[in-house]
Amino acid sequence: MKYLLVGAGLYNAVIYQRLVHEFNVYPLDITIIENRSHVGGNCYTENVDGITVHKYGAHIFHTSDEEVWKFANRFGSFNNFVNSPIAVYFNEKTGQSETYNLPFNMNTFVRLFERELAVKRVTPNIVKEAIQCEIAAYKLSHPFDTPRNLEEQAISLVGTTLYEKLIKHYTEKQWGRPCTELDPSIIKRLPLRFTYDNNYFNDVHQGIPEEGYTKWIENMFEGHDIHFDENFLSDMYRHEVHGMDKFDQVFYSGDVSKLLNAVMNYDKLVAGMVHEDGLDDFWLDWRSLQFVEKEYPTENWQGNAVVNYTSGEVGYTRSIEHKFFNREKMDDGKTIVTFEYPVKYRLGDEQYYPLASEKEKYWKILGYLPKKIVPTGRLGLYEYMDMDDVIAAALSDTRIQVEQVESGSGNFCVKFTDYSDNFQQRIINNVTDKNAAVMKLLEDIRGQVKDIVGVDKIDKKVD
Ligand code: UDP
Repeated sequence: MKYLLVGAGLYNAVIYQRLVHEFNVYPLDITIIENRSHVGGNCYTENVDGITVHKYGAHIFHTSDEEVWKFANRFGSFNNFVNSPIAVYFNEKTGQSETYNLPFNMNTFVRLFERELAVKRVTPNIVKEAIQCEIAAYKLSHPFDTPRNLEEQAISLVGTTLYEKLIKHYTEKQWGRPCTELDPSIIKRLPLRFTYDNNYFNDVHQGIPEEGYTKWIENMFEGHDIHFDENFLSDMYRHEVHGMDKFDQVFYSGDVSKLLNAVMNYDKLVAGMVHEDGLDDFWLDWRSLQFVEKEYPTENWQGNAVVNYTSGEVGYTRSIEHKFFNREKMDDGKTIVTFEYPVKYRLGDEQYYPLASEKEKYWKILGYLPKKIVPTGRLGLYEYMDMDDVIAAALSDTRIQVEQVESGSGNFCVKFTDYSDNFQQRIINNVTDKNAAVMKLLEDIRGQVKDIVGVDKIDKKVD
């Protein structure tokens, strides 16, 4: 059996470990290619003058899964970093900034309510009552049983004051849409506590690899040769290193809609049907981020690793001061800060957040992929996963195949551009429904490919 890992991020690193140590695969039977010039996917960190910079946003490892924690620690030791972000809200009415602790806990509530409540001591019960009053008042004007959108979900959890100052604008910046149009599930990630505890995560274990995530993931690949700057999709059928025909299984950690496009050369085959009418039924949408990294000639720029900006007056949602993650160069008169801007995704941008509304499309896409492809990672699985979720999912992934399955590893060993313009035109003309077009396309190819490349090339393999 020969395996191809497309992408050298965390998920595929765990798969690599399992192939070699659990399934006793000879490392030379595993080929690894990576689009970027480094391992680690979006966990990638880079040493900039002694400071470990999280190039694709803050990554803080946290888990309550003992197996995952044990696995993580085999590849490097973790420091005892605890994430306690700060929220800065610019109050337009007063013209001043207000600073709060996150996650929402007694430190946050006392700040938010102490003036209004005018009691001697703001206790957890008083806060709960204040929140319940706000929820009841809101529900009087907006009656609902089950929250239908993020605004209703958030307000039914935290009331209106906190929602307005710490959730609404941050979330709208992050997702680029009003909270009333967002899925309620997004907000379930926010812990709410009635204790004075600024630890953002509830997990038993938390920390950051002492030597950075890049080294940590490199260690998982155990020095295996990785082909960097290699684009799988550019010539995936005949390429001498990563040609699909050379492998029995392909662990693909990229965007499956890009893969489907490449498999079917979709643009050309159904030109006009996809782009002209704007119905991009087979392209997945994402939320993307842009990072602006700045260096400041000061020892300490913001006093904390992570600061969230919860009002609309600045376009960024977060700034991270990297030296605080690993306590590096603390006395140095220089620091590196990255500002995170959520942006609309355009083809070619980095993909960060999958969108709940796209999940059905995702499943549809999977149905059309060659069977030897195993989608992996946050991109391939189109799942919002933290790093511990990624490890847990990869450790329990049952799709690893160890024996040759005669027809199960089906693969379209043809290049679709080989077809004549006539063939393409016939598909476009004959089928009006786009989904049916794809189904029909597959059927037709099964039939016609025999005439074009010969029966032996597709044989039982076409699935
Ligand atoms: N959130 C918020 N205010 C904050 C931080 C988070 O309203 O100050 C909400 C927001 O809806 C966001 C969700 O919580 O989409 C998840 O935020 P988190 O920071 O956990 O997301 P990640 O770090 O994964 O981007």
